[in-house]
Order: sequence, then structure tokens, then C-alpha cells
Amino acid sequence: MTQKRIRLGAHMSTSRGYEKVPMDSTKIGGNTFQIFPHSPSMWRARLPDEELALKFKSEMSKARITREDALVHSGYLINLASPKDDVREKSIDLLALEMKIVSALGLKCLTFHPGSHLGTGLDNGIERIVRGLEIVFSRNEDNDVLLLLENVAAKGGNIGSRFEELREIIDLCTYRDRLYVTYDTCHGFDSGYDLSSRENVQKLIDGFGGVLGLERLLMIHVNDSKYPLGAGKDRHARIGEGYIGKEGFKHFLSNDFVQGIPWLLETPGGDAEHAEDITIIKNILGLNGAIL
Ligand code: MN
Ligand code: MN
Ligand code: ZN
Repeated sequence: MTQKRIRLGAHMSTSRGYEKVPMDSTKIGGNTFQIFPHSPSMWRARLPDEELALKFKSEMSKARITREDALVHSGYLINLASPKDDVREKSIDLLALEMKIVSALGLKCLTFHPGSHLGTGLDNGIERIVRGLEIVFSRNEDNDVLLLLENVAAKGGNIGSRFEELREIIDLCTYRDRLYVTYDTCHGFDSGYDLSSRENVQKLIDGFGGVLGLERLLMIHVNDSKYPLGAGKDRHARIGEGYIGKEGFKHFLSNDFVQGIPWLLETPGGDAEHAEDITIIKNILGLNGAIL
């Protein structure tokens, strides 16, 4: 087998404590993971105490998961592009705090949805995102946490469904060396990026490289889509049960560049379903029974 080392995991619950996550990830057959830094539908968050942070870091090394391979996903309420001042201020405060939580846990990568302009226009929205990011980073100059803009489905004034929009945010931000990208296969499919052949996958990778530069791609969310190409619905499906299908993922996940990036599942279900999805992905790649 000439396959390179695949890094694969799933979004994990932290309800049993952060410190359980690294080992739980290995139990479902993964070698990395994604977590939320707080309850994702709340504005409230707090830094982990020192003891918990130490325990978490020691569990990371026991599970042999490096800080660069794990991902933290920002809360759902955050909208840096909001036209409402109070929402935007709370979003800035929470995102800045989330970066500090990521740093306290010894992790490095925090992904977030750029935001929705809620009908006030793309340019205004991008301007507010960039102003917000300047403040967020200015409060985090003492750590090395990176922010990853996630490509989103084009609906409800969402910014960042096209690579050009992500590029504009990065270009306008003075902290651009700390801005990277997460590519979500469901959201990309929602926006018309097709995976149905080797050629189309290569077109997608070349498109990303041309607009953003491939070095900006740090993480991949591997999700199938419950709706057809370009539908813009953002409804994730289990691997092989949606419109991308096993065939699409075979082309995508066989791509040499894609294999060098950590893959994180955000498919419906919990640990049991994610364990199955990990097995399905291994089978798609012909890695039957292989330990990651
Ligand atoms: Mn997301
Ligand atoms: Mn995602
Ligand atoms: Zn989604």
C-alpha cells in the first residue's frame, strides 16, 4: 500500500469532558477530531481551568493526536457580518474568547462561518467581517491560534460560498497570515462544486489553488449532501447516503492533495454512526481493516 497516512476523525461530543475526547476518537477508529469550545447555541463560554487543560493535553499525547490535526468549531450564534451592532459586538467578544479557549487547550485551529449580511449586501458584510477580525486578532496576539474561514452554502445572505469571497476577506485583513480555510464538501456541493469525476475534483482543487492558494487549505469537512448539486440547502447526509455518494467521495478522497489534509466528519448521528462512516471511508479507499 503506497497510501500516505490518512488523518480522519469526526465531530465529538464534549459532554463527558474535553479530556475524554482524544481517546474516544481512537475508539471510533479515528486519529483526530473536531469539538465545540462551548455549547454552540449559547453566547456563554469560559476558559478551561489549568488542571483540565493539563489533563486534556496529556490525553492528546496518549492518543498520539497532534495539535495541528485537531479542529475546534466556533459557536453557531456568531455572525461578524451582522448589521445589528449588539450581535456583532457579542460575536467579536465570543470569537476572541473562543480563540483563547483553543489556545488554553493547546490546540491551534478554530474554524468559523464567515457570516451572513442578512440582506444588507455582500460588500458591507465583508467590511464588517474584516473589521471584526481585526479586533478579534488584536486580542489574541499572545497566542498562535489560526482562524479557518469555512466555505458555506449560499443561502440567507451567507458570505463565503465562493472562493473569491473568502479571498477578499483574507486580502483585506491585516492578520492575513493567521487566516486559513476549511473546505466542507456538503457546502461546496451546495454551491455547485461537483465531485462526480476525477477531472471535476481536480478542477475544484485547481480552482481553490488559483483563487486562494492551496497552502490556505488546512481542514476538510467530509459530509455527504441530502440535496442535489447547487441546491444551497446545507443538509448533511451520511457518507454514501447523499447526492455526492460513494462514487463522488472515491474521486475526492483519492486525490493526492486531499489526502494530505485532515478529514473531519460532521455527518448525522453520534459516535456509533461516525464509526460506521469512518469504516465506509476506509472501504471506499480500499483500506479495509487498516489502522489509521
Ligand atoms: Mn461549520
Ligand atoms: Mn462544516
Ligand atoms: Zn453544513
